[in-house]
Amino acid sequence: KKNPIPKPKWMKMEVPGGDRYAAIKAKLRDLNLHTVCEEAKCPNLAECWSGGDTGTATATIMILGDTCTRGCRFCNVKTSKTPPPPDPNEPSNVAQAIVSWGLDYVVITSVDRDDLADQGSSHFSETVQRLKALKPSMLIEALVPDFRGDSGCVEKVANSGLDVFAHNIETVEELQSTVRDHRANFKQSIDVLKMAKVYAPVGTMTKTSIMLGCGETPDQVLSTMEKVRAAGVDVMTFGQYMRPSKRHMPVSEYITPEAFEKYQSIGVEMGFRYVASGPMVRSSYKAGEFYIKSMIE
Ligand code: SF4
Ligand code: SF4
Repeated sequence: KKNPIPKPKWMKMEVPGGDRYAAIKAKLRDLNLHTVCEEAKCPNLAECWSGGDTGTATATIMILGDTCTRGCRFCNVKTSKTPPPPDPNEPSNVAQAIVSWGLDYVVITSVDRDDLADQGSSHFSETVQRLKALKPSMLIEALVPDFRGDSGCVEKVANSGLDVFAHNIETVEELQSTVRDHRANFKQSIDVLKMAKVYAPVGTMTKTSIMLGCGETPDQVLSTMEKVRAAGVDVMTFGQYMRPSKRHMPVSEYITPEAFEKYQSIGVEMGFRYVASGPMVRSSYKAGEFYIKSMIE
């Protein structure tokens, strides 16, 4: 089925290019490091990797393999009930590679690993610990799965030494079962964010993101924001859902840049530390730059 809604002009993407991009890319190949930024052909790559006003270069790295045990209707990651076991050397290899690449802020994310007894949480926390041990000044955001709501898993990661604990609720409360895998739900995700706030050292930020254009109403967005804020979440981001292929859920609507701006100002009024909101925003969009700015303010 064809996506019936044509892309508006503000959704036209520019492919990143230029010498700097080529240089960073070449360095990455030497390190055998794979970024979500490149693999998802993210339109924000040049902005994120250059670090913006604060010079805080951000990139997103995926651990625990490339195969997910879940199948969300918006997601392009390949899926299997039995993905290969995690590489035990990955935490140390990834930590070394990230440090030598010279990033300032790294988002470490993963596929969901319902097949593993600890949902992959030990592997996650070991990666953060090794990275912090090698470079204590590195800012680390862990963008984690829901760990099926397991408090032990959340605690392990929340106490691993990270700076930002992120878990995405993906969409408004009302559309959870249409958009996400059936094992995910709003309450479980909110509980994960609440637990992280309790377990993590004081000062650790929590963060979540939603995609707009999945069929939600503005009122549903606002009530979801209120519930997220009531869970003590510090940072929220909003971006446009883009359909990765015709096998995926269609786009219901292209949200205007003005509407994104409105959610941004409402979010700031609600008391979020910072809000990133725009058609091209991804949960990791300029995360380092925004983090530093929010600490200065
Ligand atoms: Fe990478 Fe995220 Fe920035 Fe895209 S928005 S370039 S995925 S860090
Ligand atoms: Fe994609 Fe994450 Fe859903 Fe897996 S759990 S299908 S990686 S969005």
